[in-house]
Amino acid sequence: MDVYSIRKKFRTLYKRDGVVYTSPGRINLIGEHTDYNGGFVLPGAIDKGMVVEIKSNNTDRIRVFSMDYDESCEFGMNEKDAPSKEWAKYIFGVAREMEKRGYKVSGFDAVFAGDVPLGAGLSSSAALESSFAFALNDIFYLNLDKFELAKIGQATEHHYVGVKCGIMDQFASLFGKRGHLIKLDCRSLKYEYEPFDPKGYKMVLIDSVVKHELASSAYNKRRESCERVVAAIQKNHPKVKLLRDADMDMLREVKTVVSEEDYMRAEYVIEEIQRLLDTCEALKNGDYETVGKKMYETHYGMSKLYEVSCEELDFLNDCARKNGVTGSRVMGGGFGGCTINMVKEEKYEAFIADAVSSFKAKFGKEPKVYDIVIGDGARRIA
Ligand code: ADP
Ligand code: MG
Repeated sequence: MDVYSIRKKFRTLYKRDGVVYTSPGRINLIGEHTDYNGGFVLPGAIDKGMVVEIKSNNTDRIRVFSMDYDESCEFGMNEKDAPSKEWAKYIFGVAREMEKRGYKVSGFDAVFAGDVPLGAGLSSSAALESSFAFALNDIFYLNLDKFELAKIGQATEHHYVGVKCGIMDQFASLFGKRGHLIKLDCRSLKYEYEPFDPKGYKMVLIDSVVKHELASSAYNKRRESCERVVAAIQKNHPKVKLLRDADMDMLREVKTVVSEEDYMRAEYVIEEIQRLLDTCEALKNGDYETVGKKMYETHYGMSKLYEVSCEELDFLNDCARKNGVTGSRVMGGGFGGCTINMVKEEKYEAFIADAVSSFKAKFGKEPKVYDIVIGDGARRIA
């Protein structure tokens, strides 16, 4: 990220200097569709993020400039002042959510830019919210903890953007730590850092450039399947409130009661929660071969049991396997977006060359490639 250009722009626009903060996007190594089932996720912050220079301006107006859109936007801080520009809603939302919680946000000037690819599943929106949440907390001495800042980002998506997301993205953007992933318990919201230092491997995302259009109705159907299976299991095991509480034996007991489809969905979720725990064990032992196997198993489960993959993603997964990639799976909710791959350095170039050319030959469009390094969460940088 080019901090120099941001500073230059800030000076040109506002004739002074501000303070500079950054907050990253994120990956999720394993643990997909586990959040609403009360399970775990395993995200990490990445080395790409949003950078914002900011300074209070002693007015009640917010003035922001987006370098990437080359647009400015000015607005007040009352509910009726909501800006119509999409990107500005995130900033307005963060300020509003702080105010709603009783924290005083005054006027400020800001310039920001980012290098998280938009809509690729790396959560550029969480990077944007978290960078402003972190910055406002600091310049106005609000003393909110990072957890509260994550909730403010999440509430922004819910109330000002219309995306009913969980808390993982904002959480990872704020709590990220170099060389670590975060095992987040989506039920208790307790978390633990897990070591992640895959020496000799590269992490790379391959973007199928397929948009997640089917995602929201399919997502609701998957949730309903999970709920029906929980209801069935509950009859024998009243303590089971979510699939997190169930195991495969309990599921087998209701095999004749639930539909075949619901059974497959629940099987995937129960296995995925266990896979994540096994992955954390393997990470503690530095056993990246096992981590890779778990990634392939997740892909299989998402494709064949949960049925949220698509032809393009399955193709990329096959391509990874053919090229001896250690681990590969679809990342995110499915129906599009990226595969996340962990590949030995010496196999990296051949894999990327093959993935790009064979994908293009088959689907007539070029996939995008993003190298990823796990980095730190939100922080002040200048
Ligand atoms: P993602 O999966 O990357 O979070 P979203 O659709 O949730 O995708 O968020 C993308 C939106 O976030 C963009 O449409 C834009 O409004 C905002 N955004 C992301 N990155 C930037 C950026 N660098 N500059 C301005 N706005 C951005
Ligand atoms: Mg988003």
